[in-house]
Amino acid sequence: MPMRTEGRLNGELVCSTCLTSRHIALFPATEAVPEWPNRPTQGDRRCSTAAMGLGGRSVLALAAAGVIVAASPAAAAYTPIGNASHYALHTGYDYYTHKNVVIRWNPCRTISYKINPTGGGSRAIVDAQAAIARVSKATGIPFHYAGTTTYIPHLIAVRLANGIISYHYDRTGQAKVAPLVIAWAKRGTGTGTSNYLKPGSEAGVGGWNVATSTTSRLRITLGFAVFDSAKTKYFPTGFGKGSSVGHLILHEVGHAMGLAHYSDVLMIMNPYFSTTSGVAEFNRGDLTGLTKVGRPAGCISP
Ligand SMILES: [Zn+2]
Repeated sequence: MPMRTEGRLNGELVCSTCLTSRHIALFPATEAVPEWPNRPTQGDRRCSTAAMGLGGRSVLALAAAGVIVAASPAAAAYTPIGNASHYALHTGYDYYTHKNVVIRWNPCRTISYKINPTGGGSRAIVDAQAAIARVSKATGIPFHYAGTTTYIPHLIAVRLANGIISYHYDRTGQAKVAPLVIAWAKRGTGTGTSNYLKPGSEAGVGGWNVATSTTSRLRITLGFAVFDSAKTKYFPTGFGKGSSVGHLILHEVGHAMGLAHYSDVLMIMNPYFSTTSGVAEFNRGDLTGLTKVGRPAGCISP
């Protein structure tokens, strides 16, 4: 039995993006996006102002009982399958062009990332790096592993002027760590937890933060993937068949790159996985989507 995921919650997050974007538009000077020590392959300016959004909340959950154990096939031997048009992207309003554009990173800059492997088991770093290698190959975007971190992506509560409590991605906190953070965490409160993780069938969450202004085109500036360590400990490590850790990482990092869900069980970006899922490799729809947010889509400048 596959697990459910996020439908409604995803909609709420998209809504919060809209609200925040409007808010930031009114006060553009208050939001600075830090420059990262990336190695630019083409010129890029940091955004002078930022709007933020949360995208692609995800979930992959354990199928009921049996956890299968499968050997990881060699990635190089895999031939992608399925329908190449089975992918979905997010769009956002770009203050530079005054158009809705595809939400993606500037593919012409290296994305630096850190891993918080606490609770992820002995293969956490290896599997996360292997997932990033697949994403890099599919997008043409270079990544740089900047080491481990103790940071866990989470939401912070903000009281708006009208008194409403609004939850937002802790972009300022993550901005001190790395543009992309991949972390394992626990549910609940206190040390080692992330409030992205909820009881139920969700095994992970992935998303992004975007920035745009009248002088800078919209792009993802921060991305994250968080996994529920209480669930992933039952998942087979690597990229074999079934509800593997590799599958989960590819899915959530897929969100961090801008991909949305697509309801085709062959695709990594399908919001469910189970013991009957195929090997954890991007299939043809996933790969088209990654191309659309990758280097073939062109550099973002300014
Ligand atoms: Zn998802």
